[in-house]
Amino acid sequence: MPERNLRIIHGPNPLFAESEQCHARFTSFSVIPAEAERQVRAAFKEHKCEEHKKPPSSVASRKEE
Ligand SMILES: [Zn+2]
Repeated sequence: MPERNLRIIHGPNPLFAESEQCHARFTSFSVIPAEAERQVRAAFKEHKCEEHKKPPSSVASRKEE
């Protein structure tokens, strides 16, 4: 399983963070920096990254069916 990273884009008030894996955004408007970071990290923990979208027809990596 690939390591997931939460990237802080802007903060702390408001705090914006992004999943490096799938670029999902997380926001917290808490005025307490530590609390804001805790909130986005909690949301990130619950978050499931979308699988990398597979190309419609990949000839190179096609498996036998
Ligand atoms: Zn993600």
